[in-house]
Amino acid sequence: MKHLTFILLIVTILSCKQNSKSELIVLNSDINFTQKRTELNQNTLKYVKYNSNIIVLTNATVFDGKGNSAKENQTLIVVNGYFQSIGKSSEIDIPENTTIINLKGKTIIPGIVGVHNHLHIPQFPFIGETASKLYLASGVTTIQTCGSASPEEEIELSNKIEKGQIIGPNIVTSGPYFTGKGGNPNMIIPRDAKHIKDTIQYWTKKGVRWFKVYRNTIPNDLEIIINEAHKHNAKVTGHLCSITFEQATNLGIDGIEHGLNSTSDFRRNKTFGICDGSREYIDEIIINSEKVRQLHQLMIDKNVFLTSTLAIYEASIPKRAFADKRTLDVMLPFLVAQYQERRKQYDSINSDNDLREKRLKRIMDFEYQFFKMGGTLTAGVDAGRHVLPGFGDQRNFELLKEAGFKTEEVIKIMTSNGAKVLSNSEIGTVEKGKKADFVVIEGNIEKDIRNVELVFKNGYGYDPKLILREMKGKFGIE
Ligand SMILES: [Zn+2]
Repeated sequence: MKHLTFILLIVTILSCKQNSKSELIVLNSDINFTQKRTELNQNTLKYVKYNSNIIVLTNATVFDGKGNSAKENQTLIVVNGYFQSIGKSSEIDIPENTTIINLKGKTIIPGIVGVHNHLHIPQFPFIGETASKLYLASGVTTIQTCGSASPEEEIELSNKIEKGQIIGPNIVTSGPYFTGKGGNPNMIIPRDAKHIKDTIQYWTKKGVRWFKVYRNTIPNDLEIIINEAHKHNAKVTGHLCSITFEQATNLGIDGIEHGLNSTSDFRRNKTFGICDGSREYIDEIIINSEKVRQLHQLMIDKNVFLTSTLAIYEASIPKRAFADKRTLDVMLPFLVAQYQERRKQYDSINSDNDLREKRLKRIMDFEYQFFKMGGTLTAGVDAGRHVLPGFGDQRNFELLKEAGFKTEEVIKIMTSNGAKVLSNSEIGTVEKGKKADFVVIEGNIEKDIRNVELVFKNGYGYDPKLILREMKGKFGIE
């Protein structure tokens, strides 16, 4: 008898435990929380500050990434890297024995999705590991590399990050660039149609789903590239010049990079299919004129996204091209010297010369109008000069604000719009059931997006300050 009571007691305790556990799952039975997180190895685990399966965040100010304004006092429960519950702190039951992080005075945004985020910079065909650390530490949790100078290395790095062997954002790889005669010899200059098809088949077999066309691509080649890529479920984006936005859009391109400064539609004396003509159009164009609005409407009708890369453009404006201290700390001395040389030249320029400043304003207005008309505007860093991976994405945030976008609009551009063009419905928003890739920013994001306190990716909370401390003097080493 005694024995039976004991067994009953055990069963009762077990079923109670079972109940409280299943209750948690039953809350959202439509979501698969059983999926296991990737195991991290010692090299990557050392950057992780929060490691438990269930993490509760309280008192946070949350931007959802969908364009809504911030919600205060939010509690978020993350289970195995997915958002299980989000709501007002008073309405959410906090499970017992879990890690609770109080985010009073802190802001959550979705992880940044950068879609013009190379793993190369001028002079360096591959800076994969350094760039990956900078991206992650800056809150960029997914990148589309938008043209590769070393596709094989990119694929390898992407796999290593996925397996938890190296830290970095999730990498959506791209194939080598295509261009045309007279273009950069490091890119593919197609010999014939078969050459294009073979190249696309080769890389799509390896899992590549993005191809980038560069400034000298001829219209006939672009048509073949787009058709072949689409046949293999891949997408094409372009840094255009020989081909106008209108022509590329009508040929079925998926995305266009950089905006007004690469628009050859309005160039004077332009030859069909050739990258020529003069650029003064930027100084004369009226952004809300019928011809610009028509172009924007065409892109919108044909579902072509536009990627903003304001930070790298700003880096060549004499009165603006300043590197901050953290950037100079990270760069190798020879890169710092190159920067100081450029500064000297800029400082000697007559201060009345504000041509590029005025152009920046027009480039901003072009993007603003496209977005307001309903276009899908995305963003990316396009690192180079002193605009570093990740830091430059944060600078884009500040410049898009300067362009007139509201904070919640900028966040949408930099998160869910990126996810949308990548056709990844799991990321880009802070929402129940979505992957909990998100960033915690100290204080008010309106004042400072650079003060990143935590970056969550695939269920792990990384310590960005620790990552950056180790990056001192390493940018440019590869
Ligand atoms: Zn680029």
